[in-house]
Amino acid sequence: MGRRKSKRKPPPKRRAIEPLDTQFNCPFCNHERSCEVDMDKSRNTGRVSCRVCLEDYQTSINYLSEPVDVYNDWIDACESAN
Ligand SMILES: [Zn+2]
Repeated sequence: MGRRKSKRKPPPKRRAIEPLDTQFNCPFCNHERSCEVDMDKSRNTGRVSCRVCLEDYQTSINYLSEPVDVYNDWIDACESAN
């Protein structure tokens, strides 16, 4: 019978946006994972563009930047533009 003693904690819920993901939902056309981030570390430039509506955005990055940072910058820029 022995009940299994070790009930491991369930894995943490996946967040909607994972830190190392390079594909994100588009704030313009609302397609899922249609925006791809391109990190050009030699130029310190991060670029995100949507392959559906072709919106794009470019921002400066540093060696610590992750694709999600570029995406978040874009969202911020969108929100401050509204
Ligand atoms: Zn789009």
